[in-house]
Amino acid sequence: MLNNLIFVLNCGSSSIKFSILNPQTKKKYLSGLVECLFLEKTYIKWKYLGVKYKKYIGAYISHENALNFIFNQVLFKKQDIYNSIIGIGHRVVHGGNKINQSVLINDEIINCIKESAHFAPLHNPLNLIGIKIAIEKFPALSKKNVAVFDTSFYHKMPKTSFLYAIPYVFYKKYHIRRYGAHGISHDYVSHEASVMLNKNFTSLNIITCHLGNGCSVSAIRNGVCVDTSMGLTPLEGLVMGTRSGDIDPSIIFFMNQKIGISIEKINTILNKESGLLGLSEKSSDFRYLEKNYSTNELVKLSVDIFCHRLSKYIASYICLMDNCLDAVVFTGGIGENVSLIRQITVSKLHLMGLEIDIKKNFLIKNGKSGSIAIKNSIPVLVIPTDEELLIAKKTMKIISSM
Ligand code: ADP
Repeated sequence: MLNNLIFVLNCGSSSIKFSILNPQTKKKYLSGLVECLFLEKTYIKWKYLGVKYKKYIGAYISHENALNFIFNQVLFKKQDIYNSIIGIGHRVVHGGNKINQSVLINDEIINCIKESAHFAPLHNPLNLIGIKIAIEKFPALSKKNVAVFDTSFYHKMPKTSFLYAIPYVFYKKYHIRRYGAHGISHDYVSHEASVMLNKNFTSLNIITCHLGNGCSVSAIRNGVCVDTSMGLTPLEGLVMGTRSGDIDPSIIFFMNQKIGISIEKINTILNKESGLLGLSEKSSDFRYLEKNYSTNELVKLSVDIFCHRLSKYIASYICLMDNCLDAVVFTGGIGENVSLIRQITVSKLHLMGLEIDIKKNFLIKNGKSGSIAIKNSIPVLVIPTDEELLIAKKTMKIISSM
């Protein structure tokens, strides 16, 4: 018999992920993905009780239309599952300076998410569309929607990590600081790592690398995140699929004043036309980049720059550990599947006591987890992320206490 299911909704900038699962048994009854929103062809893929389905939805589909399709054509047709849903968990990227934990959604929380949208303009407004439509479609559960924030994982970061060296007034008056992103994933894999390493979370010292379309690294000392590479917005830090990550801020003045590019266009360049796509002039997709690494010079260069920056971040975070690093963890579509990235990155960290076993590294992909380091190395772990499961667990905890 089905019961106690949580519906999890993750509205991203170009995709929507959804799943229905039991957080206690971890069983996923239904999970799916709508990809390529606002592009020529939008498809929905879903898996129901182990069987996979794929359907063309249409051209230039908006988030609203995709969500209506998910509810009307997928969810509502599985009445037994639909009737067993007791709560809805939403991934929300930015909680701003007011919210630092998962919360039940009400009008005040919706306003806070709206207010924080200037820190995550590509994400928070879309998260709000998901919340609005879920409330409309599930009126009986309208008071059982929970927001799980990516930024919550970083709320204990010290000022030494989260403040920028600009006049203090910008922090005090305008809340300009490093907030971090991908917190749900870093949170999930760091707890999984504590189980794999058989070490209490509160004494765990690890560095987690979430490498997907967006990429970030977090330093976790004694179970608390003490630094992370994403900043005020998810633009800072590592080289990403289409985002530049760290640049000298003067490049913006140069582009604007010397080349005459508008601020709005520079924003688009740094968020959507840079990173692996901008450098390789080919693709942001690692399936393509991996295949063409040895034959295309710019592809090789872009991947090498990606690993160069990643290894520098890992090395710099080692100095934040308590004289002991328990593991480096790779996750996200790239971290879980691309052995080339793990190999190049870790090869630069020999001096820090990290060394990969090439065979083990090659074999871990497609949802497998495990250690890829040689025997005498500090552990290097690959752990598939499961943001949906963590969102479902946090949602269940909140609605069970109502
Ligand atoms: P998001 O940040 O959107 O959740 P993902 O975690 O799904 O992104 O990661 C997307 C990235 O992972 C893309 O660069 C994609 O090419 C890469 N990727 C996913 N699966 C594989 C694979 N099997 N082999 C190589 N690259 C992969």
